[in-house]
Amino acid sequence: MSTRQRITAILAGLFFVYLIAMIVIITFNFRGFGIENAEKRALLTAEVVKSGLTAHMVNDMMDKRAYFLNEIENIENISSLWIARSPTVIKQFGQGFNNELPRDAIDRKVLRTGEIEELMTETATKSTMRMTIPYTATAFGTTNCLACHKAKEGEVLGAISMVIDVSDVRGSSLLTVAYTASIAIVIMLLILLIVNIFLKPYINIFYSIKNVMKAAYNGNYSKRVDGGDFKESKDVADMLNTLLEKLQNVFDEIDKKVYIFLQNKNKEISNDPLININNTIDQLSEIYKFKQTIEHDEELEDIYNRLAYVFQTKFALEDFTIIEADRISGIKTIVYTINDCHCSVLKGECRADRINSIVDSTIFEHTCPYFNEDEKNLKYICIPYSISNELNLVISIIAKDEEDSLRIRNFIGLIEGYIATAQPAIVSKKLMQILNKMARVDQLTGMYNRKYLDEFTETAIPQALRTNTPYGILMIDIDFFKMINDTYGHDIGDEGIRVVSRVIKESIRSSDIAIRFGGEEFIVLLHNCDKKFIKEISEKIRISFSEQVINAGPESFSKTLSIGAVMFPEDSDSIWKCIKYADMSLYYAKRNGRNQVVCFDKSIIKDDSMQDSF
Ligand code: GH3
Ligand code: MG
Ligand code: MG
Repeated sequence: MSTRQRITAILAGLFFVYLIAMIVIITFNFRGFGIENAEKRALLTAEVVKSGLTAHMVNDMMDKRAYFLNEIENIENISSLWIARSPTVIKQFGQGFNNELPRDAIDRKVLRTGEIEELMTETATKSTMRMTIPYTATAFGTTNCLACHKAKEGEVLGAISMVIDVSDVRGSSLLTVAYTASIAIVIMLLILLIVNIFLKPYINIFYSIKNVMKAAYNGNYSKRVDGGDFKESKDVADMLNTLLEKLQNVFDEIDKKVYIFLQNKNKEISNDPLININNTIDQLSEIYKFKQTIEHDEELEDIYNRLAYVFQTKFALEDFTIIEADRISGIKTIVYTINDCHCSVLKGECRADRINSIVDSTIFEHTCPYFNEDEKNLKYICIPYSISNELNLVISIIAKDEEDSLRIRNFIGLIEGYIATAQPAIVSKKLMQILNKMARVDQLTGMYNRKYLDEFTETAIPQALRTNTPYGILMIDIDFFKMINDTYGHDIGDEGIRVVSRVIKESIRSSDIAIRFGGEEFIVLLHNCDKKFIKEISEKIRISFSEQVINAGPESFSKTLSIGAVMFPEDSDSIWKCIKYADMSLYYAKRNGRNQVVCFDKSIIKDDSMQDSF
């Protein structure tokens, strides 16, 4: 029910109550008036009858009283009229006419008590009032009753009863009620009309505001209040509309501005810009906190760990891998993983990195040929992010099911936000890594330098001892290298050094470590190596180098090298002692004709010719 209808119903209800009350009051008033009027008429008639009868009595015409009484009965509204003699009168004057005996209990009661009795009778069509009035004997009225009647003062001599028709009063009251009600109804209708006309604009604007507020509550600020033509409501509507306009503009502006920070990729979660803005500011504040935290991280690994923590806690990712993709070498490195990578990315193959866009198996099944065949039921989303000209990151996420993958897709923009935030820190840490590496790498050969050997012996060797991992140590030196410099110049000498380093690198495994120890001397640490293997590798290097042809302008030449080989920790559990033994073995090889491999033996220490090397 609308407000207008409600107000109309309330007013109509009140009016109805008023009308009923008015009818009741009018009816009762008229009834009271009718009764009072009838009473007066009855008393007057009784008085007239009494006087008439007394006159008849005095004039000795009592036998003619019937005519008189009939005439009285014919008076308008008197339906019937009779008199009743009291026992005293009957005793003195007889029963009189037949109809002068008490007719009913009322007559008898009045004759007995001397008090007036009244009885209203109302039917649907008629209202009558019966009134019985006593005549009492008195010696002090205009006529001395006691002069004729043998009665005592105050004794009841008779009673007059009459039935008076008061229906005309009822008719008048109904007519009055009808008139009054009609006038009241007309006035009421006028009031309702005026109230409706007057309220209409207020009620209309109220409903318009209600609708606009409802839309605003649901995030739609584009609706406007309709003020209609009424000035006051129009003013209110204008004020509200200006406010709404302002709100909408501000929200739009904030919307645009904050989304820039999230690279406009944040999926809106609500239709309400307020909720979205609040949500975006929350996310920005989270990203800002993340930014502040990673600025204090020392290692690149810490940054990746923190990114992984965000992925796990904020996005509830349960299975993912962060991969570094070197854009120049093509080498892929897993920098963080939860359940191991589910694809052959370590072989250098990554579809997301290659096509530089998201690879999503829920959009196209088996889209990545490098994903493990036996895990084809897993849903994966791999997202590449460009960090620098040299580095891409690939986030490979495994979704639990299709629904989960939809959920993940919704916050890809946010993940990008976090990675974009971490990007400068990743780049600077990567640069630091490169600088650190450069400080540990020899520029001429690309091999590690002595500094790296120092660090390696400090960190990896104690671990090798703990895990009982043997290393084969080779000390390599070019034979008569000085002659190259002397004969062909320093540049050709450098080329000779590069050739050795290439031969060494080609001969060893990726887990082995090659170091330019100084000048044309190299140390090779062969990981998890035995005596047989150390000899094999050493010979491979020696023979391979001796087969190399080094060009020096129009001429070319070949050289040989000598190798001293030691087993760590078999020959000594001190790495530096092992290096010393390797050096002694090399010296031994030189002494014994060069172009050979000498595996360390305790006898070398005792050899007289070796005493010079100590
Ligand atoms: P051998 O080892 O067989 O006893 O004779 P060798 O002539 O090789 O003697 P040694 O190992 O002592 O020679 C070292 C020479 O290597 C001395 C130095 O001139 C040269 N050398 C050291 N570093 C470099 C370098 O970076 N470039 C060039 N071109 N020569 C270098
Ligand atoms: Mg030499
Ligand atoms: Mg040397």
